[in-house]
Amino acid sequence: SPVFDVQSIREFFPILNRELNDKRLVYLDNAATSQKPQVVIDALSNYYSHYNANIHRGIHTLAEEATAAYESTRVTVRKFINALLPEEIIFTRGATEGINLVAYTWGRQNIHSGDEIIISGMEHHSNIVPWQILCEEKQAILKVIPVTDKGELDMEAYKNLISSKTKLVSVVHASNSLGTINPVKEIIDSAHQVGAVVMIDGAQSTVHLDIDVQQLDCDFFAFSGHKVYGPTGVGVLYGKKELLESMPPFMGGGEMIKEVTFEKTTYADLPYKYEAGTPNIADTVALKSALDFINEIGKDAIRKHENDLLKYATTQLETLPGLRIIGKAKEKVSVVSFVMQNIHPQDIGVLLDNQGIAVRTGHHCTQPLMTRFQIPGTVRASFAMYNTKEEIDKLVSGLQKAIKMLS
Ligand code: PMP
Repeated sequence: SPVFDVQSIREFFPILNRELNDKRLVYLDNAATSQKPQVVIDALSNYYSHYNANIHRGIHTLAEEATAAYESTRVTVRKFINALLPEEIIFTRGATEGINLVAYTWGRQNIHSGDEIIISGMEHHSNIVPWQILCEEKQAILKVIPVTDKGELDMEAYKNLISSKTKLVSVVHASNSLGTINPVKEIIDSAHQVGAVVMIDGAQSTVHLDIDVQQLDCDFFAFSGHKVYGPTGVGVLYGKKELLESMPPFMGGGEMIKEVTFEKTTYADLPYKYEAGTPNIADTVALKSALDFINEIGKDAIRKHENDLLKYATTQLETLPGLRIIGKAKEKVSVVSFVMQNIHPQDIGVLLDNQGIAVRTGHHCTQPLMTRFQIPGTVRASFAMYNTKEEIDKLVSGLQKAIKMLS
């Protein structure tokens, strides 16, 4: 594979030339959303400039071109996560919608009073709330895998939670708040031993790790386009074909039907059964450019670079007085969360922003996890393929200034 040269990679991302307060932007909020390479921006503009049309129903040339481009993304996504079949790829608005789709369709059909759903203590709110809504409606029980002091899942406790009552396990592959990579293969295999279905929240893992849904043998897997260098407003739900076929539809409308009469409607085949209405065509088309771009750079090379950044950042940050890293798992994606003695995360965020450095502060949509660590929130720096060690140096010197000013 080609040599990884971060300076030439940066040139693909126009926003990285942005200046804030006369300082070059240092974008370290990639776990919230990644920046977009020019090929993705061009794909959007090209779609609207040359072949914008509604898909699947027109016979005119533009409709055919738009349909082909939209379906071509499905084929690319299938390969990207190694699903068996393209019809196992459902386009959604994002990871949130994918999880909700499963909760409202599979969940409504299969969860009954007294059944148990297992999630973990490090879930994003989008992998908590849909299951709470479902449990409330069905009088089912939500169980939570505890998180250790290092920020790993307590796998002993998980094995003890699992029983014949467990109907679904839904866990995050990589934590957005801590960076922890969870042993999802082991989680999935144990769940399958009791006949439970497993959903994996891949919102943070898909951009960093090789995803092979067949090897994992997960039943559902969800991720968002905007975190894999693609546009906002498009995401993917993978589901095993026989499950997707057995579930009722999510939304009713155009595109998702075979035949409608007032007496009875029959539903379209996969994947269209779950894609009611005019989908987000432009962003779905551009998602292919993002995945092609990642493939061209090479996930191995990207991961190696990001791991170097993670190690460097961890070492440098730990030299700062009063700084404590939250989440010291053995396996992490390139996310560092930390708190500082006597300084509120938000104050740090504001001071860093004044220096052109974008980090995230707060609970990162994982309030129960913050409660677990007895903190109001963290400062989170999260790295992408285009970040550099010089940027981490700027973060560290920015923090040194913050310490001087605020403590
Ligand atoms: N799960 C995790 C772990 C996330 O980090 C996020 C996004 N912060 C989501 C789910 C939800 O993704 P989206 O907001 O794109 O639907």
